[in-house]
Amino acid sequence: MRFSPSRLATLLLAIVWALPAHAIEVHAVRLWAGPDSTRVVLDLSGSAPHSLLVLKNPDRVVLDVSARLASGSRAPPGAGVIKQVRLGRRPSGDLRIVFDLSRPIRAKSFLASPNDRYGYRLVIDFGSPTSEDTPVKVEHARPQARDLIIAIDAGHGGEDPGAIGKNGTREKDVVLAIARVLAQRVDAEPGMKAVLTRNGDYFVPLRDRMRRARAQQADLFVSIHADSIRDRSVDGSSVYILSQRGATDEAARWLAERENASDLIGGVSLEDKDDVLASVLLDLSQSASLSASQAAAEHVLHQLNLVGEIRKPLVQQARFVVLKSPDIPSMLVETAYISNPQEEQRLRGAAHQAKLAAAIHQGLREYFYSDPPAGTRIAQLAAGTTRPALAAGDSGG
Ligand SMILES: [Zn+2]
Repeated sequence: MRFSPSRLATLLLAIVWALPAHAIEVHAVRLWAGPDSTRVVLDLSGSAPHSLLVLKNPDRVVLDVSARLASGSRAPPGAGVIKQVRLGRRPSGDLRIVFDLSRPIRAKSFLASPNDRYGYRLVIDFGSPTSEDTPVKVEHARPQARDLIIAIDAGHGGEDPGAIGKNGTREKDVVLAIARVLAQRVDAEPGMKAVLTRNGDYFVPLRDRMRRARAQQADLFVSIHADSIRDRSVDGSSVYILSQRGATDEAARWLAERENASDLIGGVSLEDKDDVLASVLLDLSQSASLSASQAAAEHVLHQLNLVGEIRKPLVQQARFVVLKSPDIPSMLVETAYISNPQEEQRLRGAAHQAKLAAAIHQGLREYFYSDPPAGTRIAQLAAGTTRPALAAGDSGG
């Protein structure tokens, strides 16, 4: 039997009429708890109107979405400021989600557009995901010989898994492990102190990462990643710094584009979109720290070369958003290719993670000892001026 066009149209119309009122489905409700904010992400089959209501006594947030819950979807367990997540349905058929809170907190929501990894997502942030809203303590007075502050940035996190290996290893997990070991090593080094831009599985917008480093008055910013490429035979470490002009080569440009997409995948809120002027000013004041970045990156690349393969013998340059911090020498280390099955396997192991962390630490150490910032304990140690206090009366030469 064949349908004429008009019969087909009638049939299609009948199918559309037969669909339930809420054709949009919520496939999953996910939750990421960070130290400053807790983020809930709803995966939607399409764009759906929603409303958010913050209520007191008890503290809770009520979310109504003009969509229905896909069968099998369940509420995630509470975490962070959220004690409990309750799913329900309004008489209209709309999905209602109630978040029971442990304390009063601000909540805001936005719809994230589809990207190459996810479809429509409704994002609800509890607390402030950006440090612009977070009071940041800035130390003004510093002791006579201060510690060097190393900001260690584990790439990706939460909603953004980064690259994924053939066997399912996620970049966000291995780079956090490496970052934590590196932080331990830096903290164990006299005259150095580490700060992690994220210390858990949650999303931090790219510009927030450097804002956090600046708020801590970091002397250096190192972002840790694990690259991926279609050709699974490619392996080795690479070290990148920011380029103001353009990328060293096509591969570097593509990499920067992939890493810069983190905000899109993580679902950055519209309020996080920095004005263009601010970023231009940042670029202008960046040049002073670029030569320092280059020198530090060369030391790190050299050390990585001693413990394993390196992809390129020179420090590469590209336009990485996460490196655009004025006056803080910054580098991005692609520790390995997670797309290479052997490197993926090694990256999972604590021994190799420790090896990579040790190489990065040693590179930073050599850089700072070769060119220590004035007023730091490292400067004293490098000059050999730190000596035990003289005993009373022992003033002779
Ligand atoms: Zn990455």
